[in-house]
Amino acid sequence: MTSALPFLPFSQPTIDEATIAAVGDVLRSGWITSGPKVQAFEAQLSAYFGGRPVRTFNSGTCTMEIALRIAGIGPGDEVITTPISWVATANVIIEVGATPVFADIDPATRNIDLDKLEAAITPRTKAIIPVHLSGLPVDMDRLYAIAAKHKLRVVEDAAQAIGSRWNGKRIGSFGDFVSFSFQANKNITTGEGGCLVLNNAEEARLAEKYRLQGVTRSGVDGIDVDVLGGKYNMSDIMGAIGLGQLANIEQITAHRRELARHYFAQFGADFEAASGAQLPLADFDNSNWHLFQIILPDRGPGTRAAFMTAMAAQQVGTGYHYAPIHLFTMYKERGFGEGMFPVAEKIGRLTVTLPMFYAMSKADVERAVAAVKAILIK
Ligand SMILES: *Cc1c(COP(=O)(O)O)cnc(C)c1O
Repeated sequence: MTSALPFLPFSQPTIDEATIAAVGDVLRSGWITSGPKVQAFEAQLSAYFGGRPVRTFNSGTCTMEIALRIAGIGPGDEVITTPISWVATANVIIEVGATPVFADIDPATRNIDLDKLEAAITPRTKAIIPVHLSGLPVDMDRLYAIAAKHKLRVVEDAAQAIGSRWNGKRIGSFGDFVSFSFQANKNITTGEGGCLVLNNAEEARLAEKYRLQGVTRSGVDGIDVDVLGGKYNMSDIMGAIGLGQLANIEQITAHRRELARHYFAQFGADFEAASGAQLPLADFDNSNWHLFQIILPDRGPGTRAAFMTAMAAQQVGTGYHYAPIHLFTMYKERGFGEGMFPVAEKIGRLTVTLPMFYAMSKADVERAVAAVKAILIK
């Protein structure tokens, strides 16, 4: 089947001309690694997050790993997280030598179920990594109450949640460690990259050390290495992109919220009953609408693959976020398996991501919805 309309991807970055020019300036400047652009980007991020210290890195994955290292999490410690996230969320726990523990998700929010999280706490539990999936925040009041009660550190995986709010406060402007990603599909990007919001200057100093080989400056001309660090710094090329993106964060978030509202209006009140599909939680105050995900009606094995193929035939791209982490081979080898987290397994099998990005128009939403309806409503 062919169509006159161009293919609509599920995600696409928007880099404006001013940002492209700023990157050119960096490339011509003679200084392209971490430097003034990264410093300026960190200062603007800090201002955006209410003045809390912020350090940048070359991925959202290593930001979480470094947060765990700063918190002193390691062998013998358990860290609780959700089975429905990008695998990075659990991999970082293993990377620092700790043990991942999963708690099943809440079918309404598709985020970690806080009752199940609390039930999974043991004397070895040291931290929680909640994920604000698709930009919809976990209940922050209850999560931090649980953390305080059990004396646990929190590393929020806010990779998808820049611009999201909880009770009117920006995600990242409060709480413990908050980790963001600037990977290409995220609401703002640096190509690849990430940042960590920290609690104080001492943690910020440790973050700088872990991101560059564990190096500390000492004396007038000396350096020392007293911990194992990695090579995780952001370049000024990335910093320049980040500055250009952050300048547009309000418009980006507002446009995504508008597109999400248009999705709901186009699907209409009877869509769920007519199709058997499930729309996301209609939270327009808190979510930044990083992803617009629906749960398909279960038509047996291959339900999602058939749906995605039928959407592509109508020139509409879709994505799949995410396969349950506990069912990956490496996790099965660590003792996890089928049947342990039934809500995650069902949603992992039937979730599909529809197009959502800043350059999208309301007409694009209408195309996507018409394609979904043509497949699901007979
Ligand atoms: C993107 C993402 C990450 C990883 O970020 P990178 O910058 O790709 O390393 C982690 N968790 C979630 C939920 C993500 O969406």
